[in-house]
Amino acid sequence: MTHRPTAAQLEACLRALASGLAPHQLRTNAEALEDYGRDESDLGTTPADAVVLAETTDQVSFVLRTTQAHGVPVTPCGARSGKSGGSMPVDGGVVLSLERMKKIKRISVEDLTAVVEPGVVTGDLMKAVEEVGLFYPPDPNSWEWCTLGGNVAENAGGPRALKYGVTRDYVLGLEWVMPRGEVLRLGRQTIKGVAGYDLVGLLVGSEGTLGVATEVTLQLLPRPRVVQTALLIFPAVETAARAVTAVLAGGILPRTLELLDDVSIRAVDGRGFNFPPGTGAAVLAEVDGNQDDAVFAELAQLSEIATAHGASETLLAQGDAQREQLWAARRSVSTALRALARHKLSEDIAVPRSAMVDTIQRLKAMGEELGLTVATYGHAGDGNLHANILFDSPDQRPLVETALRRMAELAISVGGTITGEHGVGLAKRDLLPLEQSPGVLQLQRQLKSLFDPAGLLNPGKVFQAL
Ligand SMILES: Cc1cc2nc3c(=O)[nH]c(=O)nc-3n(C[C@H](O)[C@H](O)[C@H](O)COP(=O)(O)OP(=O)(O)OC[C@H]3O[C@@H](n4cnc5c(N)ncnc54)[C@H](O)[C@@H]3O)c2cc1C
Repeated sequence: MTHRPTAAQLEACLRALASGLAPHQLRTNAEALEDYGRDESDLGTTPADAVVLAETTDQVSFVLRTTQAHGVPVTPCGARSGKSGGSMPVDGGVVLSLERMKKIKRISVEDLTAVVEPGVVTGDLMKAVEEVGLFYPPDPNSWEWCTLGGNVAENAGGPRALKYGVTRDYVLGLEWVMPRGEVLRLGRQTIKGVAGYDLVGLLVGSEGTLGVATEVTLQLLPRPRVVQTALLIFPAVETAARAVTAVLAGGILPRTLELLDDVSIRAVDGRGFNFPPGTGAAVLAEVDGNQDDAVFAELAQLSEIATAHGASETLLAQGDAQREQLWAARRSVSTALRALARHKLSEDIAVPRSAMVDTIQRLKAMGEELGLTVATYGHAGDGNLHANILFDSPDQRPLVETALRRMAELAISVGGTITGEHGVGLAKRDLLPLEQSPGVLQLQRQLKSLFDPAGLLNPGKVFQAL
């Protein structure tokens, strides 16, 4: 079912929106409509009919009330760094951008909490809290530009999820605008609190389909005083994956264990960092704590285990500049892979760690069988593998679809999931029934229609439109 508005509905809606917003907040020029019609999913562009740049909670509420009243779909967005098409306005209508709501309202050293607007860039909060000795752990690799609202909607993870968990573990409370404009305050400001159902837990990860976050209360931690980073070099990706499992089984919990396979290394090699010749795979390991000696000892132990499991070299980052060089290489993998082929589709299956080696081998074999290049990298420490399919010709698309389906089936068959952090959105909507039973899907659809009976908020995402 489509919710695409008629010309008359749109015209009336835009007139009503214009009456309550400043002219610079409502955009209908072709360039803006195109820009806000795509994200980082490589699913193409679905242009909006209008873009609203909201600046206050009242304006968010006004936009939702107005679009509902005129039967026009509305799709929230943050920085549009999403990889599952979540912010794409597939039925046109209004894109509601939260990017201008970027105040850090409060950082409390005593309570270890922060209160932020949804458009705050994740990296800006990280830096602000670090300046006062605190730490916000969730670190999606897009932290330099993604927003906290987008992180909440996708329940974003990142390299440090291995030790510190994902966004949901840090969201205490929300100001939430319901699809028809009602403003609610949910959750708590305290570390503990179990009053009523855990609605915050439900809304974090709801992918912009159950309402709009206009304020987020986050839990913080004291900042670890010492961080040590090392790059472990391996001859092959399977060896590296085995070593990751061995490190964790050896009783060490680093804050990151990021894997890069041979194709990913080829993509980033020489862009600010040169890998040793013959590197077949690498793991970026990071350990943190408060005592220099203890952190260093733990990293040394980690390196010993990795060496015993096939690592040929451990390159220890000497200082912040080298550390940043290694991380810049890791963060650029997604973009650099684009240079290797015309098209790239990125999956983010997550599998139990015990199944990681087998999964990587089967992904490679599948790529060879179908004649497609598969690059595997990602948060190996928590079994979250970004398997990217690289291809040049649109004629290969049916093969790519087969590969995506087989990857999903493989993940599920070993007890994993079709998405570890990027969300279902549009990209994996048709794969969700492979993982979840009809009863579970029906329960979620019922929730969606309870929140949004007309189905106008971000239609066509997670499930086919209601
Ligand atoms: C290079 C690169 C690396 C990445 N690395 C990671 C990673 O390590 N871990 C990870 O989890 N993700 C990663 N991502 C994916 C992406 O950055 C995250 O999903 C991020 O949380 C999206 O934030 P955003 O502000 O860009 O949201 P958008 O892409 O604009 O929107 C994402 C979804 O959130 C909804 N939304 C946005 N704001 C709100 C709001 N205020 N209220 C309700 N709904 C809202 C939208 O409707 C949409 O469904 C990466 C992306 C790129 C391009």
